[in-house]
Amino acid sequence: MTDSALSSQPLWWEDAGAPEAPAEAPLPAEADAVIVGAGLTGLSAARELARAGRAVVVIEAGAPGIGASSRNGGMVGGGHRLSSSELEARFGPEAAIGMLRETHIDSLDYVLRLIAEEGIDCDLQRTGRFRGLHAPHLLDAAQREIGRLQDLIGLEAHTLGAVEQQAHVSSKLYYGGAVYPRHHALNPAKYLRGLLAAAQRAGAEVHGNTPVTGVRRAQGGGFAVATARGTVRARDVLMATNGYTPGFAGALRRRIIPVPSFIIATEPLGANRVRALFPTGACIVESRDRHCYFRPSPDGARIVFGGRAAMIPIGPEAAKRELSRLMEEVFPQLGPVAITHSWRGFTGFSFDFLPAVGQIDGVWHAMGYSGSGNAMAPWLGRQAAQGILGEDAGAFAHASLSPRWWNRGRIGGMTPWYMPAVDAKFRGRDVMLRYRGG
Ligand SMILES: Cc1cc2nc3c(=O)[nH]c(=O)nc-3n(C[C@H](O)[C@H](O)[C@H](O)COP(=O)(O)OP(=O)(O)OC[C@H]3O[C@@H](n4cnc5c(N)ncnc54)[C@H](O)[C@@H]3O)c2cc1C
Repeated sequence: MTDSALSSQPLWWEDAGAPEAPAEAPLPAEADAVIVGAGLTGLSAARELARAGRAVVVIEAGAPGIGASSRNGGMVGGGHRLSSSELEARFGPEAAIGMLRETHIDSLDYVLRLIAEEGIDCDLQRTGRFRGLHAPHLLDAAQREIGRLQDLIGLEAHTLGAVEQQAHVSSKLYYGGAVYPRHHALNPAKYLRGLLAAAQRAGAEVHGNTPVTGVRRAQGGGFAVATARGTVRARDVLMATNGYTPGFAGALRRRIIPVPSFIIATEPLGANRVRALFPTGACIVESRDRHCYFRPSPDGARIVFGGRAAMIPIGPEAAKRELSRLMEEVFPQLGPVAITHSWRGFTGFSFDFLPAVGQIDGVWHAMGYSGSGNAMAPWLGRQAAQGILGEDAGAFAHASLSPRWWNRGRIGGMTPWYMPAVDAKFRGRDVMLRYRGG
């Protein structure tokens, strides 16, 4: 089916409005803390610091939320790409359990409390999440891992076989999967907007359309944060730029890989048609390395379908074609449907797929969410604020973003120089896997 007008803006903005920068106001000369980047990380840190009585200034290159935070899939819940045993082997049992608890439980509890306390209207629904497994042997491994997480941190989750899974997703692509009943879904643009208002209510100053151009140590202590509109001096600085980390922050840039992720939304299909594919309304993710993630829209009428359409920022038409093909693999029974929206954003991957909170040369950072930040980004923003306040920054202070000397140089400011080659390699592998039916 042809699409008369394909919007390259997120579906979410139709309801929430596009991100807008606050009216321009003069930057203060000084603050206790400057936060670079007004996404979920930066605004959460700002809210916490302002509530603790600190004078906080958030400086954002564009409009608050214009990065990944207002564009993402809106799935909320914990989890990361390393198993509990990999974490234990690397960090020892105590830190590993701390990380598992923060990822799976504390971060989710924190954002649910934040949304409730601040009265954020963001179409929050407890939908649960189903992770579909694309090969039979993965079910045993998932059962073992969930059993271990139940023992270690009391995680609420269970596995289902291929037949029972049909209760969550009407697809024959998966050989069963794992259910996380506490996971939620929301409209990320409304969530971000609510967090922005909460940070401002707490007393944080938020400045948009003001790219930070450098951070250097100031004479007499603290840091000087330079922008085209002036310099702000602050005792503490937090870099909250994740996949959009700018060139001046070379040490962080070498530690973060900006990876684009793409999403399409179908035309309204009607609640019955969508319900037939998502019988419980759960958000779906999968084990295939295409990393498709899909869910009903908040009104239940459309399918919102994301995934790795490419490793480089291809245009909305090309992404639409690739994601439509992947959606058809999952739901062949759907038939042709019109796609009304096709958009993308940049996630920030770390080389070991773990986020971290910490300091480099005295400047704080919280980033590296590796594709999953709706719970973890506000949480690590909060943990960074704790660190700035002289408290314990938690288990992810044990993780460190490891650098690669060659991870510098960006095409068009965002795409790492090596990504076109990675993209070609993935495409070749995708074709091979499709041919083999994998
Ligand atoms: C398409 C997509 C789908 C996703 N789906 C999900 C999902 O369903 N569930 C989930 O949990 N996570 C998801 N994620 C990941 C999640 O969106 C991110 O982990 C999270 O938003 C990161 O928040 P952040 O505040 O750290 O970064 P961002 O929201 O990216 O904010 C960084 C900010 O830094 C600003 N900035 C950069 N340079 C400068 C500068 N020089 N000066 C000032 N400001 C600067 C940018 O403009 C940007 O606003 C998805 C991401 C994408 C892209």
